[in-house]
Amino acid sequence: MNTMTGMAAIVTGGASGIGLATARRLATAGAGVAVLDVDPDGVTAPLHGIKCDVANRESVQVAVATAAETLGGIDIVVNNAGIGAAGSVEDNDDAEWARVLDINVTGMARVSAAALTHLRRSTHPTIVNVCSIAATAGLPQRALYSASKGAVLALTRAMAADHVDDGIRVNCVTPGTVDTPWVGRLLDRADDPAAERAALQARQPMGRLVSADEVAEAIAYLASPAAGSTTGTTLPVDGGMHGLRVRR
Ligand code: NAD
Repeated sequence: MNTMTGMAAIVTGGASGIGLATARRLATAGAGVAVLDVDPDGVTAPLHGIKCDVANRESVQVAVATAAETLGGIDIVVNNAGIGAAGSVEDNDDAEWARVLDINVTGMARVSAAALTHLRRSTHPTIVNVCSIAATAGLPQRALYSASKGAVLALTRAMAADHVDDGIRVNCVTPGTVDTPWVGRLLDRADDPAAERAALQARQPMGRLVSADEVAEAIAYLASPAAGSTTGTTLPVDGGMHGLRVRR
């Protein structure tokens, strides 16, 4: 179980949902873990909460430096912080496009760039980005969000190529719909939350939502030395959404 003893990890957006499940999973495996989040107040030991807005370069540089000092280095970066956006290209204005791309895409580049000095000193350096089935599935009413996650997929492959000679593995996970506070907020806004939940479940061939712990498990695998020959790829955790054509 303690396959990450002595390793240090940072998890962005780790105060909630997939990020929190991942931070806890990495800590259970023995890693020291810093959670970089705009709202880290609820983060409890053994996790270290550090305030960070991935949309702000200075905030990222200070938070990554603080994490490296607190943990004694950085071996694992989990780029998980992200926000949603609904609608077609007619519905989001330029400010919304700029904001979502800044957090979901540029944020991952900023955090990774700030962590590279530390990763290059590690024996098992790795980055895992949290993408989404939206990158490839052609989901309706998710134009901006899908574009941002498509960019995450491309960024993952490009970073893997750029840093392969440093021994830094870069991969991503592509979750389907995951039962997190994010989806809870989506359901709260729906006219009929129960019907909306049923529709989300029916969209996934397995007929249920993915759990945050299942995504955390996939991230922990990709981040572990056990995945030592895996780089530049994606691991779907999507209830069969990508590969199956099962209708419910
Ligand atoms: P969540 O809303 O439960 O948690 C997101 C966390 O990110 C929060 O703690 C929030 O404070 C933090 N955050 C937001 N903006 C930030 C910023 N600028 N800087 C730092 N932290 C910030 O969401 P979740 O469902 O756990 O989603 C996490 C990731 O998983 C996102 O990248 C999302 O796109 C991706 N994802 C989610 C689902 C899903 O169905 N929930 C599916 C596929 C992919």
